[in-house]
Amino acid sequence: MNNTSLSEKITTSTRTRVAVVGGGPAGLMLSHLLYLAGVESVVVDNRTEHAIGTTHRAGILEHNSVSLLVDSGVDRVLRDGHRHEGIALRFGGVSHRIDFEDLVGASCWLYPQTDVFLDLHARRTADQGDLRYGIRDTEVLDVLDRPRVRYTDQEGACHEIVADLVVGSDGSRGMCRDLVEGATRYFQEYPFAWFGIMAQTAPSVPELVYARSGRGFALVSQRTETVQRLYFQCDPTEDPAAWSDDRIWEELQTRLAGEDGFRLNEGPVLERTVLPFRSFVQTPMRHGRLLLAGDAAHTVPPTGAKGLNLALADVRVLAETIERALKAGDEHALEEYTGRALARVWKAQHFSYWMTAMLHRIEGASAFDEQRQLGELAGVAGSRAGSTYLAEGYTGWPGH
Ligand SMILES: Cc1cc2nc3c(=O)[nH]c(=O)nc-3n(C[C@H](O)[C@H](O)[C@H](O)COP(=O)(O)OP(=O)(O)OC[C@H]3O[C@@H](n4cnc5c(N)ncnc54)[C@H](O)[C@@H]3O)c2cc1C
Repeated sequence: MNNTSLSEKITTSTRTRVAVVGGGPAGLMLSHLLYLAGVESVVVDNRTEHAIGTTHRAGILEHNSVSLLVDSGVDRVLRDGHRHEGIALRFGGVSHRIDFEDLVGASCWLYPQTDVFLDLHARRTADQGDLRYGIRDTEVLDVLDRPRVRYTDQEGACHEIVADLVVGSDGSRGMCRDLVEGATRYFQEYPFAWFGIMAQTAPSVPELVYARSGRGFALVSQRTETVQRLYFQCDPTEDPAAWSDDRIWEELQTRLAGEDGFRLNEGPVLERTVLPFRSFVQTPMRHGRLLLAGDAAHTVPPTGAKGLNLALADVRVLAETIERALKAGDEHALEEYTGRALARVWKAQHFSYWMTAMLHRIEGASAFDEQRQLGELAGVAGSRAGSTYLAEGYTGWPGH
């Protein structure tokens, strides 16, 4: 369809300062921060609020992410979140606590991404933000000159948003990243995935346990007083439907067993998914008047709990960038954005890769590799210097 025929079908045209494609945590948080800075925006998303608000994903917030929420007036996390002052590394059947407060004077918070979304959505709605969910056929046009976003609504009507800037916060499967001409892309694939479950049972432990066993990685996490979140390393082609509840629990119990008699609380498996993962970075994160944020520009394997936190860190920088560009006329701010965002992204890429490599079993690894991995874990857990690197990266590096 050419532009002329599309233009003829457009039923509404909206003028705003910033059009945001993707209303996940990055897009909504950006729109909220822009509102506080007096910059108008419109958010479009091709999923419904219900679909986003009920899809279980991240669960750990760095202290910087919590500060960003709380300082901007979104503070339910302080009432309903759970502060975690450490994690356990478990290997050789023994748990070793990494005490974040003692090591770096910081902690992180267990607070599901669904709640972050619901809080931000409620806040933008209360502030009468222009949020358009459940749309389809998104197009982003003329990003070098006069950026516009077009889409079709649920009734089939076409709409146009004309803006000074477009932000692509449309996630790892979005279309905005493809509009950055001449971009460089960095990939790292992994030969394994995570089998993730939600289970109807009280938490087995109060803090997260990252376990390395001869059968592969396992992660014990929490969600609520009655629901546990657990993962174990699997083949990327694994079929979740082929696993009975009993088989899942047996696999998890075996990977976590040890001389201390550790046992998980078991209960009905409510949800099961296989989560393939990879590392990805695209640079630059800007093309003309289009800027990327969050998973649209980079993804990390979930081992270091960095994805959601990076998305929020990006938009903290981006909101300031946009304010400088649109309110103070400082276009140089747009040029600086990629460098400022990627400085944190690459540290997080390394951290996530390192946690992944240290804890997962590589099929065909030699006996030397296995012993070396255990040596690395012993070095991290048994030394204040080693533990401090983990604690600082996990809770979030200082600065923005
Ligand atoms: C199972 C799982 C577990 C995870 N665990 C963790 C964790 O423990 N800690 C952590 O920090 N991170 C974790 N992550 C990663 C985290 O969920 C993501 O990094 C985070 O969602 C990124 O936010 P975002 O707003 O950039 O992207 P998204 O949340 O993906 O939002 C992008 C939005 O854009 C919309 N969109 C896409 N295409 C279009 C289009 N063409 N038009 C309009 N809208 C569009 C989508 O509908 C979506 O709502 C996990 C991810 C998964 C899948």
